[in-house]
Amino acid sequence: MTISQLYQTAYQAVLQNAQEPGSCAFDLSCLLEQVFGFDRFHLPSYGGQEASPAQEEQFQTLCARYLSGEPLQYLLGEWEFFGLPFAVGEGVLIPRPDTETLVETGLSLLHGIPGPTVADLCAGSGCVGIALASQRPDAAVYALERSEQAFSYLQTNIEKNHAQGVQALLCDVLSPPALPPLDLVVSNPPYIPRCEMETLQPQVRHEPWMALFGGEDGYDFYRLLPALYLPRLKPGGAIAFEVGYNQAEQVSGLLTAAEYTGVGTGHDLAGIARVVYGRKPLDSPTSARTKSHA
Ligand code: GLN
Repeated sequence: MTISQLYQTAYQAVLQNAQEPGSCAFDLSCLLEQVFGFDRFHLPSYGGQEASPAQEEQFQTLCARYLSGEPLQYLLGEWEFFGLPFAVGEGVLIPRPDTETLVETGLSLLHGIPGPTVADLCAGSGCVGIALASQRPDAAVYALERSEQAFSYLQTNIEKNHAQGVQALLCDVLSPPALPPLDLVVSNPPYIPRCEMETLQPQVRHEPWMALFGGEDGYDFYRLLPALYLPRLKPGGAIAFEVGYNQAEQVSGLLTAAEYTGVGTGHDLAGIARVVYGRKPLDSPTSARTKSHA
């Protein structure tokens, strides 16, 4: 079979069976490029060639896995975030464009602070910490991740992006190791409530439960992390969280209750309040404890 015939056959099968036909052509084109080295726009030039039996089998296997609901990003093994390449696969959350809002907020919170120290909690693939470090080579970034499977992607991605300033730590963010006093804590924690876990798209259900499930109401990490990390922040240091589409108001309240000031939100490209941030007061009573952690 020629490459064009293979692509057309796969495209018809996918169109008939896919949940979201809108992105099928793009997705199949990525799989085409993965196997044959060119995308669908080059089919008129190169699609007349015969596919080798090995290529044909590889393409058909990828298409079958795609049809069974495996995320495109896992099939490709790599995905772009903030203009950088990230290795992804079973066991690690796929970087989303929404999360770039967290990186941008983090960068503006670090504005004017030379050689900042940053912690990225629930780091997963490392996309947030590595993207921050790419813009701030003077930063020391600690990326904390509890899942061993995700941790190996985190290490790979630090190497892939030559992110010398990022140090991966395999640990639970709820019982962290000693860290130097922090200028910034960023986190995209699990935040999906139990009632929404059942309604996730089939592709999202291939992603790790541990990276998605945020407790019964989705707020477990937002309840615990602000108070736990307040003593580890320098006075005037900041914390910034990614939040679910309807969680900004409640998370803002939790930051205020934990004695953060200047609490505000950042919006994603869809106009959704996607990030909530606040600062540790300059005269916080926990400042003395910060010094003892130094
Ligand atoms: N943004 C992801 C989703 O909606 C969830 C990521 C998370 O829980 N931190 O699928």
